[in-house]
Amino acid sequence: MNKSSKNEELYPCGLQDKQWSWLKPDFSGKVLFLVFTSILLALMGSSARGELFLFAVMLWKNWDDFYFFYPRENNDSLAKVGDSFQSEKNSVNVSEASKILSQNSNNFLNKVLEDYCLQDVYIQVPMALLTSYLVFFVVGGYLQWYYYIKKRDKPEEWKCQPQRFLTRENERHEIYLGAVCLLVNGTFSGILSTYVKNGGTWSKVYFDVNKYGFPYFIVSTIVYFLLQDAASYYYHRMLHWPFFYRNFHKWHHRYHSPTAFSAVALHPVESVVFQFLLLLPIFFVPLHFVSVAGCFYYLYYYGLIDHSGIDMDSIWPWQPPVRFHDDHHKYFHCNFGFNTLLFDRFHGTLRRTDRKYGEGIFGGKGSPAGKKAKKA
Ligand SMILES: [Zn+2]
Ligand SMILES: [Zn+2]
Repeated sequence: MNKSSKNEELYPCGLQDKQWSWLKPDFSGKVLFLVFTSILLALMGSSARGELFLFAVMLWKNWDDFYFFYPRENNDSLAKVGDSFQSEKNSVNVSEASKILSQNSNNFLNKVLEDYCLQDVYIQVPMALLTSYLVFFVVGGYLQWYYYIKKRDKPEEWKCQPQRFLTRENERHEIYLGAVCLLVNGTFSGILSTYVKNGGTWSKVYFDVNKYGFPYFIVSTIVYFLLQDAASYYYHRMLHWPFFYRNFHKWHHRYHSPTAFSAVALHPVESVVFQFLLLLPIFFVPLHFVSVAGCFYYLYYYGLIDHSGIDMDSIWPWQPPVRFHDDHHKYFHCNFGFNTLLFDRFHGTLRRTDRKYGEGIFGGKGSPAGKKAKKA
């Protein structure tokens, strides 16, 4: 009896052979659609907590140092483009304009903001919020329309839980709660992006890959990814302790058959602590801009995919299929990980078909189901 191989069958990672069959009949159309929705989802995810804006600001500010693929000495033309962009940026930029404004008004508040590298914060926070709301509603709305409205009468073709849809009340709830979280997280991201743009010294993000060398870049990216996965697992597991579950995390678990919107519909306290945890390493460990942005995009993308309710396997051998997190919403206290099965395997919290689960069965391992419940 091998429980782990049983669970591997339950949540196979990476593309399985059967997965290719759907590509054959209409390869181009389906791949195009997949690419299109992937870009939309990545945009929606990265804007949901305002990080899209944060990384745009990082890139914009450090354009001159951003020679990841083209070292400066080997590519003069690109360097010139970078320099001209930089000088253009210096001649007309928001920072300069607001500096003049702050000199004129010369008030106490602006001085305090400058002391904390937060000048322009009143421009950047609304910008971050605007980007978040716009992408979230336009992209999220499109995805809802494509699956949940257009294909609503054929759920067995695409849905993890074909018999189950969110009630109208819960659909509204996830939009409202998601909008509140966008406000909280977008504000946090807006403040952080202002800090980074103004050269805040606490951030350890670097932009020139040669600064620490290529091997460091690769190793630090992998370590950061695993660190994010560990933080997500343990934080999520803690949220399933009875006190935290009842007071915070239950807000997210009212969506028994989640949609992409559910991904950001969390208790605002839970949401902002999560965002803070994921960003924490950038203040302690030197991480390349691409590593940070890459891991975040990956995390957001699969965060949305995993909540989409659409039955899909991932292409990566380490990334569990959508069913894995969908089952977390269906069975409550199991499958706590997000981007690997490592920690669930290690702690024995993968869902098992011979155990019984429910909202009142805490601990992550279910309870003995007895003979009849074996096929749960
Ligand atoms: Zn949960
Ligand atoms: Zn969830």
